Amino acid sequence: MSQPWYKDGLRFKCTGCGDCCTGAPGYVWVSDEEVTAIAEHLKISEAEFIKEYTHLIQGKRSLKEDAGNYDCIFLKERRCDIYSVRPKQCRTFPWWLENVKNRKAWEETASRCEGINHPDAPLITLGEIQKGLD
Ligand code: SF4
Ligand code: SF4
Repeated sequence: MSQPWYKDGLRFKCTGCGDCCTGAPGYVWVSDEEVTAIAEHLKISEAEFIKEYTHLIQGKRSLKEDAGNYDCIFLKERRCDIYSVRPKQCRTFPWWLENVKNRKAWEETASRCEGINHPDAPLITLGEIQKGLD
């Protein structure tokens, strides 16, 4: 099988800038397991968590966001308030298939994420990238 275009690795290091948690309308999907984990973390019931912090988009559950500035409901002073239990979608960014499908998609993602190609960013190997994409 031929190797992907990023076979020699990609440079990335999260700076914690918070830009991927705000700035444009988007969805942060949460699975049932993640609902349980986040509700436990917040020490509230799952029903309360679902009502206060999520909404349904075409039958799928997503975290709410600020209607004015599109901040994720858990973004507080540019930091994630539920960092240790954040959804998989957040944990795996930028290693999403749509971001690495080709170099152009990666460069577009880089224009929204200062950690990609950051001067301090280490080279993430093909193996590590593929693990993130799982
Ligand atoms: S935009 Fe990139 S560098 Fe900033 S918090 Fe998100 S992943 Fe980290
Ligand atoms: S849950 Fe945390 S990491 Fe995920 S979008 Fe919201 S603030 Fe960002």
